[in-house]
Amino acid sequence: MKLSAASEFVLKTIKESGGEAYVVGGAVRNYFLGLPAGDYDVTCSFPPEKVRDIFLEKGCRVIETGIRHGTVTVRIFKESVEITSFRSDGKYSDSRHPESVEFVRTIEKDLERRDFTVNAMCFDGVNFVDLFGGREDCEKKVIRAIGDPYLRFREDALRILRALRFASALGFEIEENTKAALFAQKWLILNLSAERVTKELKGILLGDNAKKILFDYREILAVVLPELALCFDFDQRNPYHAYDVYTHSVLTCVSTKKDFILRFAALTHDVGKPETFFVGSDAAGHFYGHEKRGAIMCECIADRLKLSSAEKKRFVSAVAFHGYPIVPGEAKIIDEGCDKYILRSLNKLGEQTVRDVLSLQLAEALSETKETATRRERLTRIAARLDLILSEKMAFTVKDLKVDGNDLKSLGYDGREIGEALNALLSAVMSDKVRNEKAELIDYLKDRDSILHH
Ligand code: ATP
Ligand code: MG
Repeated sequence: MKLSAASEFVLKTIKESGGEAYVVGGAVRNYFLGLPAGDYDVTCSFPPEKVRDIFLEKGCRVIETGIRHGTVTVRIFKESVEITSFRSDGKYSDSRHPESVEFVRTIEKDLERRDFTVNAMCFDGVNFVDLFGGREDCEKKVIRAIGDPYLRFREDALRILRALRFASALGFEIEENTKAALFAQKWLILNLSAERVTKELKGILLGDNAKKILFDYREILAVVLPELALCFDFDQRNPYHAYDVYTHSVLTCVSTKKDFILRFAALTHDVGKPETFFVGSDAAGHFYGHEKRGAIMCECIADRLKLSSAEKKRFVSAVAFHGYPIVPGEAKIIDEGCDKYILRSLNKLGEQTVRDVLSLQLAEALSETKETATRRERLTRIAARLDLILSEKMAFTVKDLKVDGNDLKSLGYDGREIGEALNALLSAVMSDKVRNEKAELIDYLKDRDSILHH
């Protein structure tokens, strides 16, 4: 196994000082899977203060934020290596944090406290240590808890979500007993902090195997997102929808590109449907207002999961406008004649939301089976025109105009006239009646207002 320059230096330095040190966890697992290492975590026999002193002496930058839990981060060769002292976690009382961490003398003890067999292998630069059959589980593609899974999930409920995250990212199955334990104890997830849950949710949604996990483990997901449980098997009773609401949501989610907020919005975009459902006189199911209802629910979700305010805004807007026609249906052919509609949508919703809404609509079209080929093609064309519009920096807000308030003032406009004139100019530019050039804009205004005034 090839180590990074920094981790190799760390192992060597600790060994030279008389300690034991190993690269452990994800890097070793990924080596056996033929995947690149994410980061190199090191575990060693020295207490954290000693680790700190050794590397300070070597002139490295040392970050001590985790020192109480036994972790020191060393910055070297533009790389960060987390060095944790051999430890075992003391008693857990709240399925969240050990009451204490106890430093132990042997690597064996340290490997025992780790979550899954595939995460509990280590490498000292020459030899591997694999006490729990991690290598075999890598080959079999299995996530298996170390020891009694019931006990291990009660110690730390984050492991339940980590199991799903690794299964999603690596395309692994979860071993039967481990799986039974995580279903039986899923409510422990409620003890976790929102930040930790959100981080794992992100990993689950962005994994290559997200689709299978979202279907097979939906009951676990519903502990974090009970709104989704309303959608499970919800028959839409509408000839335009091939699937129940949850199936449609999952298929839409995994048809989008790997962008957390976009995938999350795709997964929840129809959560307003069950509560707005009614059967019309046409005997079909309808969901008027489900976008708005869903957006309100998604605001709650965003708050509960402590998304940042920028993430929340993006998430909620995508859900709120997922049915918005970026180009209205009456425009049958998508060509430059539609640019004015796209510019209006940009003006109303902003670039991010227009992009997200188009991505969502395209993913929906990809995931339905019926009559979507034409819709797919239409949306793809709209997306191509959108890219062109943005790359050519066409104007869609007053700020994009080549004249500003001061220009208008010097032409004799005053007070509210200024805003009104700028809006009129923007609207003329967006519908291609005048080019966005200063002289032409001023001429346009002069023409317009001489017509108005006489
Ligand atoms: P990634 O590739 O995502 O970094 P990783 O396996 O390195 O995967 P980390 O979260 O960086 O995952 O954790 C490093 C190691 O620490 C894990 O491989 C595992 O051995 C151990 N570990 C992390 N979190 C837990 C936990 N909640 N319970 C038990 N062991 C854990
Ligand atoms: Mg790691």
